[in-house]
Amino acid sequence: MLVSLPQVRPTPNPLAKEIAILGGGITGLSTAHNITRCIPNAKVTIYEASSRLGGWLNSELVQVDDGEVLFEWGPRTIRPDFGGAGVATLDLVRMSQSP
Ligand SMILES: Cc1cc2nc3c(=O)[nH]c(=O)nc-3n(C[C@H](O)[C@H](O)[C@H](O)COP(=O)(O)OP(=O)(O)OC[C@H]3O[C@@H](n4cnc5c(N)ncnc54)[C@H](O)[C@@H]3O)c2cc1C
Repeated sequence: MLVSLPQVRPTPNPLAKEIAILGGGITGLSTAHNITRCIPNAKVTIYEASSRLGGWLNSELVQVDDGEVLFEWGPRTIRPDFGGAGVATLDLVRMSQSP
């Protein structure tokens, strides 16, 4: 069951045409997802310094003799009490469940 959280993000400007997001971690990705839902016609660009998206989130599926083992090199739970990233993750989960 998802807990009820306070609204922590400002409402995006509905007239914005081009939006830049710095960082492709879970916060940047969920922000981009949210903005594209709120302002479908805006051009959203994510600027990511590294060669992959996800930031600290990094899952690796390793083949072993009996099948596969999933390694989580970063977070494996959601802690909304530590601020933006956790709340953004829960928002993303919630949004992915709504039509
Ligand atoms: C080992 C480990 C275990 C963890 N376990 C948990 C857990 O179990 N539960 C939990 O809730 N949290 C956990 N955390 C914390 C969680 O990983 C972070 O809170 C969350 O991933 C932060 O997401 P973020 O998108 O805000 O930042 P980040 O994941 O740091 O993403 C920021 C992104 O911005 C990019 N960037 C930085 N500077 C620039 C720049 N100037 N220009 C362009 N791009 C830039 C970076 O390359 C990165 O991709 C853990 C963290 C670690 C390290």
